[in-house]
Amino acid sequence: MTVIRDSSNIAVADGTATVKGWVQDIRNLGGISFLTLRDRFGTIQVTMPKKKIDPELFENITKLSRESVISVTGEVKESKQTALGLELIPTAFELYSEAAVPLPMGVIDKVNVEMDTRLNHRFMDLRKPEIKAIFELRSLAVALVNETMQELGFTCVSTPKIVASGAEGGATLFHVDYFGKLAYLAQSPQLYKQILMSTGLDKIYEIGPAFRAEHSNTNRHVTEFTSFDGEMCWIDKEEDVMEMIGKIVDNVLRGLKERGKKQLEILGKDIKVPALPYPVLTYSECLKMVQDAGLKLKEGDDLGTEGEKIVGDIMEEKGFDLYFIAEYPEEAKPFYIMEKDGTPYSFSFDLDYKGQEISSGGQREHRYNELVARMEKKGLNPEDFEFYLDAFKYGMPPHGGWGIGLDRFIVKMLDLPNVREAILFPRDMSRLSP
Ligand code: ATP
Repeated sequence: MTVIRDSSNIAVADGTATVKGWVQDIRNLGGISFLTLRDRFGTIQVTMPKKKIDPELFENITKLSRESVISVTGEVKESKQTALGLELIPTAFELYSEAAVPLPMGVIDKVNVEMDTRLNHRFMDLRKPEIKAIFELRSLAVALVNETMQELGFTCVSTPKIVASGAEGGATLFHVDYFGKLAYLAQSPQLYKQILMSTGLDKIYEIGPAFRAEHSNTNRHVTEFTSFDGEMCWIDKEEDVMEMIGKIVDNVLRGLKERGKKQLEILGKDIKVPALPYPVLTYSECLKMVQDAGLKLKEGDDLGTEGEKIVGDIMEEKGFDLYFIAEYPEEAKPFYIMEKDGTPYSFSFDLDYKGQEISSGGQREHRYNELVARMEKKGLNPEDFEFYLDAFKYGMPPHGGWGIGLDRFIVKMLDLPNVREAILFPRDMSRLSP
C-alpha cells in the first residue's frame, strides 16, 4: 500500500492509497455517499456506493462529524466528476479524533463570519484554504528575504527583546518587571543594530518581533508585529539605503509572484511588481498634496493615516504602488536620525505601499556629540542610553538602515483589509488570546 500525503499528486502503483485529513463534508444520497477529505494540499472525494461497501464501514464513515480527523484506505479510481480527477473507494478507515458538534464556525460555509469570531477560533479559521494561503505566502516572503539578504552579503542577527531603554518614544513602551527592575519589551532592534555597526559586522538584518503599546485600535496597528530590519555601514547618503530596500523588495515580490502561484490562485490575487527605482517624493511635496486635499496639517506634522491615503491615491493614479517619502522634518523623526544641517529636515524616509507606510529608514547620526545633542533635544537623558552611546565613542562608521513591518507588507501586497489578517494570533489592546 502506498501512503500518500499529497492528495493533489496521487501516483499509486498498486491502485490503493491511504489519505489522512479532516472530514470537510459528507453528502448522503441514499444509495451513494460522498465524503470530502481535506489535507494541506487540497481535497479528495471518498465515494461510497452503498452496495459495494462493507455495511459496517459505510455506517461508521457516514456518521462521522464534520472536521473529524481520519485516515481512509481504499482503491483509487479515475473520476471525471471530481476536481482532482480521482476518487477513493474505501476499504478501511481509522478515526484519530472526533470533532465535537456544533463547530464554533464553519470552514466551507459561505456565510460572513465577524473577524473577532474568526480570531477567537483561529485554529478553525486557518483550515480555510484562502486563509492558510496568506500564511504560506508569508512564510515564502520570509524565505525570500533570507535568501536575498544572504546573497547581498548581510549577516542575520538576533537582538534582545527584553531591554533597558526604548528607541521609539516612551508612549508605546511595554513595562516588564525584570527581577524587581524596570525593563521594557523592545519596540525595535534599533539601538542594537546600531551598536553592531561599530563591530565590523557592517551589513546586518533581523526578522523578529517588535512590541508597541499602541493605545488605539486601528486596522494597521497591533501591539506585537514582525519587523524586518536592516542596517548597513559606509553609506554616503540615505539614498544608498533606499536603493538597497528597492533591490530587496523587488526580489521578494518577484519571488512571491513566481513561487507563490498556487496560493495566489487560491486567493484570486496577482502581485504587481513595480519597476525600479521607486519614485521619491519629499515630505514637503506630500504635505502640500494633503493640504490641497483639505486636510488641516501643518509643517512638521505626521502625514497620518488619512494623509498617507491621499498621497497613495494620487500615486496610484500615476501608476505607482510603491514610493518613498523623503526629507522628513527632523522634529517628526526619532533621535537616532541624522539632521540635514542648517534645515528643519532630516536624512530620513518612509516607504509607502498603496497609501500606507510600511517602512521607515534613513541615515543615522554616527557622530557622538551630535547624537547626544539630539537625544537632549528630544528630552531624553543620555545616561539612560550609556550602553548604546559607548559604541559611538570608539569608532563608529557612517551608517543607515530601515525597519519594514512584515505584516503590513503582506497586507498591502494582497490588498487585505486589516493588518490582523496577516498575523496568526494578533495582539491588540483588547486581544491577548488565543
Ligand atoms: P505608524 O506611523 O504607522 O504608526 P511608525 O512611524 O510608528 O508607524 P516606525 O517606528 O517607523 O512606525 O516602524 C517601522 C515600521 O514598522 C512601520 O512602517 C510599520 O510597517 C511597522 N509598524 C510600526 N508600528 C506598528 C504597529 N503598531 N503595528 C504593525 N506594524 C507596525
